[in-house]
Amino acid sequence: MTIFGKIIDREIPADIVYEDDLCLAFRDINPVAPTHILIIPKKDITALAEVQGSDHTVLGHLMVKASEIAREEGLEDGGYRVVINNGEGAGQTVSHLHLHLLGGRPFTWPPG
Ligand code: AMP
Repeated sequence: MTIFGKIIDREIPADIVYEDDLCLAFRDINPVAPTHILIIPKKDITALAEVQGSDHTVLGHLMVKASEIAREEGLEDGGYRVVINNGEGAGQTVSHLHLHLLGGRPFTWPPG
C-alpha cells in the first residue's frame, strides 16, 4: 500500500480538508505554494495512465472538488493551478493518483 493509502485508512496522520465516499483532500507535507492540497481518489488508481473509462465519474468528481476547495480556500481571485504528475519523468513520487491544488502565489508558464 502507498503512503496515500495509509492516509485513507488513517494509519498515518494528515491535515485533511475534505472527505467523501470517493475522495480525500489533505495538505501536502512539503508545500510548494502557500496553499498546496492533494486531492486523491479513495479507489487505488496508480496513475493517470492507468485510468479506465469506468473511472470517469471519480475523475470528474476530483475536478469538481478541486474547484470547490479552491473557492473555499480563497484561491479564485489570485488564480490557482491543478497539476497531475504522471510517471517518474514528470515527477510522480507516490503511486496513487493525486491532483495537486496550488495557490497563493503567482505561477510561471511553462512549468519546470
Ligand atoms: P508527486 O511528486 O506528484 O507524486 O507528489 C507527491 C506529493 O506527496 C509531494 O508533493 C509530497 O510532498 C507529498 N507527500 C508525500 N508524503 C506525504 C504525506 N505523508 N502527507 C502529505 N503529503 C505527502
